Amino acid sequence: MADKKFPSLWIETGDGGKICVVMSGAYGPETHLPFVTPAEDLVAAAEMDYTAYRREIQRLYEEHPLFEPKLDISVSELEDLAAEALLLPSMLQEIDPLSFFELGNLLDRALRMRDDGSASFLLHAGQRLLQALEVPIYTQIRLRNIMEMTFDGMERAAQQERFEKLRSVYPKIAEFCNPARLDGYENVILPLPVDNVYQLRLVELMLYFRQEKQRIARCDYCWNYFIPKTKARALYCDRIFDGQSCKKRGANLKRKKGPEQDDALKLFKQLRDRMYARMLRYQDAPENQRDRLIPMTPMQYDEWETNARQARREYMAGKIKAEEFLRRIDTTHELTSYNTVKQELPPEESFWQKRVAADLDFDPEQKYPASFMVLDLSKPMDHPQWQYYTREELIQKDQKGHQSLRNKYIK
Ligand SMILES: [Zn+2]
Repeated sequence: MADKKFPSLWIETGDGGKICVVMSGAYGPETHLPFVTPAEDLVAAAEMDYTAYRREIQRLYEEHPLFEPKLDISVSELEDLAAEALLLPSMLQEIDPLSFFELGNLLDRALRMRDDGSASFLLHAGQRLLQALEVPIYTQIRLRNIMEMTFDGMERAAQQERFEKLRSVYPKIAEFCNPARLDGYENVILPLPVDNVYQLRLVELMLYFRQEKQRIARCDYCWNYFIPKTKARALYCDRIFDGQSCKKRGANLKRKKGPEQDDALKLFKQLRDRMYARMLRYQDAPENQRDRLIPMTPMQYDEWETNARQARREYMAGKIKAEEFLRRIDTTHELTSYNTVKQELPPEESFWQKRVAADLDFDPEQKYPASFMVLDLSKPMDHPQWQYYTREELIQKDQKGHQSLRNKYIK
């Protein structure tokens, strides 16, 4: 194969469930990435940090003269943009050689677009270049959404159950990743060709579902994915933030509060989130549909929260027992009993999870504005206040308490 026409990409299966990604450009030798397990590669891909790279693309959109609103665009502006765009992939060369390879092909194709003669050709050509640069980012967004739907809260599940969960949310993807597609190829070394990095991730998912040795879980503390080392229940990973591992921090949070207090406070939080969600639903519903909902006006919510906070303070100070605490906060009788703190409210899917499930390309950076002003009319006041929300706060609102401990406890 001396003269290859097309750049290509494939996975080679190897011994012990390991795989090797092979990249082959139009020129030069093939590159073999180190052997890894599919689980390891998926976790690493979901965690890749594109922040700086993404910022540079954004900067081009916002500041490059080609995109300034005006009547005339000169060829030299496009040439200048292309020169800048071609520099960006090198930011990824070290941390993500696979995306670097893919970008090389994509940019090559984008640059070879023929002039279609239209007046807006230059502008479109510039946009296409930047869209090509964004491909690694969108690939990761999809992978993260798939992983959130498949691995979040599934630590104790069997592989088959994780696969079924994926199938229930994104059936087309599950069809592609169905491990049964490789039945009959046990113990055979296979080259599995793919069209792009996104497809490669799906093949890795398929290979992941074929094995039982490794499982992917989500760390309760940092919210990243990890591979537990033993079969025992694993809540936290070994990553280190600010000098302390998630395992250690998780254990400390638990110890500080004691197991019972922790459970009672969890119920408090769940109840509060539920009341809050009810209030939002009630507030957002058109007048004529409100009778279908459990009524919860902002005033009623305020009343509930004031009362619940007071009970919480007394409980934290040791003035009342868990039983009384629960009785006092559960004014709408959601809990089955007050004798035990070992219970959960039946889970309600958060708005965030609904959005992820409904849209494979769900990208928090696009769906939530960087900041948001809202006129706070929830409290009767002579002078209603403008309230300012950051993107993180908007996301937290939609996640309604279903989020990492790191985000919950660290400001
Ligand atoms: Zn962690």
